[in-house]
Amino acid sequence: MEELYADFLVIGSGPAGQKAAIQASKLGKSVIVVEKEPVLGGASLNSGTIPSKSLREAILDLTDFYQRSFYGQATVVKKVSINDLNFRLNKILDEQRRILMRQFEKNKIRCFHGAAQFLDAHHVRLMHSEQMEKIRFGHCLISTGSKPRNPIYVPFDHEKVLDSTRLLAIDHVPKTMVVLGGGIIGAEYASFFAALGTEVTVVDKRDHLLPLLDAEIGMHLQKALSSLGLQVLGNKEPAHIRRVNDHVEVEFKDGTSVEAEVLLYALGREANVDQLHIERAGIEVDHHGYIPVNALFQTVIPHIYAAGDVIGAPALASTSMEQGRLAARHAFGAQTHHFPNFYPIGIYTIPEISSCGYTEDQLKALGFRYEIGRAYYYEIAKNQIVGNDPGMFKILFHADTLEILGIHIIGRAATELVHIGQVAMSFNARIDYFIDQVFNYPTYAEGYRIAALNGFNKVKHKK
Ligand SMILES: Cc1cc2nc3c(=O)[nH]c(=O)nc-3n(C[C@H](O)[C@H](O)[C@H](O)COP(=O)(O)OP(=O)(O)OC[C@H]3O[C@@H](n4cnc5c(N)ncnc54)[C@H](O)[C@@H]3O)c2cc1C
Repeated sequence: MEELYADFLVIGSGPAGQKAAIQASKLGKSVIVVEKEPVLGGASLNSGTIPSKSLREAILDLTDFYQRSFYGQATVVKKVSINDLNFRLNKILDEQRRILMRQFEKNKIRCFHGAAQFLDAHHVRLMHSEQMEKIRFGHCLISTGSKPRNPIYVPFDHEKVLDSTRLLAIDHVPKTMVVLGGGIIGAEYASFFAALGTEVTVVDKRDHLLPLLDAEIGMHLQKALSSLGLQVLGNKEPAHIRRVNDHVEVEFKDGTSVEAEVLLYALGREANVDQLHIERAGIEVDHHGYIPVNALFQTVIPHIYAAGDVIGAPALASTSMEQGRLAARHAFGAQTHHFPNFYPIGIYTIPEISSCGYTEDQLKALGFRYEIGRAYYYEIAKNQIVGNDPGMFKILFHADTLEILGIHIIGRAATELVHIGQVAMSFNARIDYFIDQVFNYPTYAEGYRIAALNGFNKVKHKK
């Protein structure tokens, strides 16, 4: 068996692995990335972030979604085929893969395909590769990501009973769909298919979708989704899922049932650790199946790091990238910092949502004296110009110091707009910062100013 050596071995080529590998190479280290799939990029590029967001954009564009508000909700939904969507999707994926390959080549990162398996705390071997390679490493990053949870009671196939990966291979837009799970992935896909004209029912064990949201933003979302025709069934847990002829039937624990042409099972993901044999390196998973790490992303074996979905929440491509980069910097003694306390969360439902910082409920629980500034999208000229979508800005700030404590935006461009608030928060800005600045007009960003004025006017008599 041939033995290779790398200062830094990265297992998995998703966002965490990519950024870690490039960072280590920039620090002058020899780097090997091993990837068990035939293509690089991880779930993010091949079955998660990029495909889902590319589909979203294609759906909005090809269905003339934003024209609906000009010509009335009664506008017939423009029919779009899966081939139309896939044409755009494949173009984007090909380009993204090419960019990634170029980045690896430029940084002299060697890539091998095959499933890595630890032999001990300094060696892995590659399974299923053309040659059986053995790799010795100085430091290692486990960035093997996650996969959809596939419980055995669910009769998954590639046609009717799907998870978020299998969904990408459907060959037509279904007339009806039931989505089990009102978390981010379930809510996003439910809204995409509703925008395509599919009759969608989302089922969750809680009484509303996306409990991580600020409750007021959650209410806006619920309203926007029902105007898309999407139905939410709360307080239900599946008991049996079966294929009946060309339909799927879900029976719930309360005895009720629903039927649809296609089912999307979006009830959680699990860490990819099964093939790794991490116990041979002296590492064990926690009781949720994730790899425990300290604040520097070191496992119990200090020269072996783990980052990304394999360590659990927040399990986003955005956070995984930064975790991977920080892990590589720490491994090779470069100046580093702790992972930020506040980072934005982007949810690409239609309409999209983004937030950074505390929710109102969290501030209440922590006993903060807070005030709220709101701006509604109908008050923003830019919104009328591009298609009068529902939406709002909600800025939470300290009632005495005026420091910004939370930014919550629902509506068009929310995932971009949140970064203005994020920067302001990271410089401990006060709400009046937005009042004292000139904003381009007409823009969505002007919503910050309107919300700030709304909030500031509520407290100014005390100043
Ligand atoms: C439908 C969907 C939509 C999403 N949308 C967003 C979004 O909009 N924004 C966002 O920030 N995040 C989003 N995410 C989450 C994001 O995709 C993940 O957080 C991100 O991919 C995690 O990156 P990672 O590097 O940890 O792992 P992954 O991207 O999962 O990559 C891990 C890689 O490791 C490989 N691997 C596994 N085991 C082995 C082994 N033994 N040997 C070698 N290789 C191995 C896998 O094949 C895989 O390629 C979405 C996820 C899904 C499923």
